[in-house]
Amino acid sequence: MTRLLLASLVTVAAALLYAPVQAASVHRYEVSVDPSLERVAVRACFDGNAPEALVAESDGARFYLESMRIGERLIEPAGDKVILGATGVNTCLDYQVKLQPSQTNVQAGGPETRRIGRNMLTSIGDWLWRPQEPGAAIELTFRLPSGVEVSAPWQRKTGSEGRPVFLAGATPYNWPGIVAFGHFTPRDIEVPGAVLHVAVLNAPEARQAQLEKWIENTARNVTLLYGRFPVASLQVVVAPTPRGRGPVPWAYVARGGGPAVHLFINMARPAEDFERDWSLTHEMSHLFLPYVVSRDAWLYEGIPTYLQNVLMARGGAISVEQAWQRMRSGFQSGERTAPELNLARANERVANGVYLRVYWAGAAMMLDADLRLREQTGGKQSLGGALEQLSYCCAAEARRWSAQEIIARLDELTGTSIFGDLVRAQFESNGYPDYEAVFKRAGIKVEGMQVEFDAAAPWAAERDALMRSSAVAPR
Ligand SMILES: [Zn+2]
Repeated sequence: MTRLLLASLVTVAAALLYAPVQAASVHRYEVSVDPSLERVAVRACFDGNAPEALVAESDGARFYLESMRIGERLIEPAGDKVILGATGVNTCLDYQVKLQPSQTNVQAGGPETRRIGRNMLTSIGDWLWRPQEPGAAIELTFRLPSGVEVSAPWQRKTGSEGRPVFLAGATPYNWPGIVAFGHFTPRDIEVPGAVLHVAVLNAPEARQAQLEKWIENTARNVTLLYGRFPVASLQVVVAPTPRGRGPVPWAYVARGGGPAVHLFINMARPAEDFERDWSLTHEMSHLFLPYVVSRDAWLYEGIPTYLQNVLMARGGAISVEQAWQRMRSGFQSGERTAPELNLARANERVANGVYLRVYWAGAAMMLDADLRLREQTGGKQSLGGALEQLSYCCAAEARRWSAQEIIARLDELTGTSIFGDLVRAQFESNGYPDYEAVFKRAGIKVEGMQVEFDAAAPWAAERDALMRSSAVAPR
């Protein structure tokens, strides 16, 4: 009796717990991709009442839309929306999209639709028309030509017949993201705290294995900040680019549908060049922060610009001396860039070639804050520990944060005013962060390629601890 009662109580509790989830509608989209990879046909079946309108993230989506109908009724876009009008319940809608791949040689921005050999990168916003309401759940299945695979940022479910099934809708419709279709071999790579869903496009098999190893090694280095990768699932898409500087001429993080890193690489460069390159560590380190508004580049670029060298040194991709040397030369190039601009002004003009000043000023502030926090708490806290706390409270929220909110939260989580004080002082001053003073307190002397450490410096212990992953105590 007791057991029965308990069982039924558990059932009631479970029903209460899951009731809202069951009540929420799940719209079902079936996406058929044409063998040319340039045409996509979508059948969207709405659960219960159809949404009043559908939206797409990309401005071009309405021009790529060939036709849309509910039964016999033709539906035309009105501005940037599609108004569905009166429909019955559980209505299905059909539409066709003709993708327009970019004609430029080299990609230099966020998600766009582009042909890469026998593959098609697509900006999701070019073809996915979805309800605007946040939290509108969409289950997507794909019908793909034989031999064609799909890479997507959405949460993946195991589908029947081995067909990929994804759950979209967790992030706002206007966050850009990419889906790739093509003749590639997807691979899941597990690292502490995460599965990386990797798609390497247009690479010979041996090259692909080497690139996957590089991605895994880099992700492992990134876990050395606080013991796990900052997000549980990551889409990684690697594509060759015909030209540009270094092994990774272009890379960016996208958040639409879920976190993603998209890399354009120079396939001709040897493996060692990739292992020593900072780009992927930098991109993955963006994921230590939630999505930050674009005007606050000093923070969302400052943190990865600082951590790229720390994490590479922790993982042994570069030496500790090299990390300090790279940091110092970065701070110097930031200082030399647009010296007439203070941080607030430089931050406003980050797109106009002054990004080095903004990135490295932010990085210098983070180094300073990390060392101060370690000193003030007797080594119990660190920037890494604070970012771990931030991941628990704030990473899952599907909204954008301002730098001010993040800084306030970091102070709250650490029980200090270190971040706020430092940021306020920097924005009130007209100068560049005083990294020379920080290096001096930390007892780091860099001359050319020569780096010397002073064991008696005030921040010697903090300096050594921040380059060691063991300094992060498990919580
Ligand atoms: Zn960046």
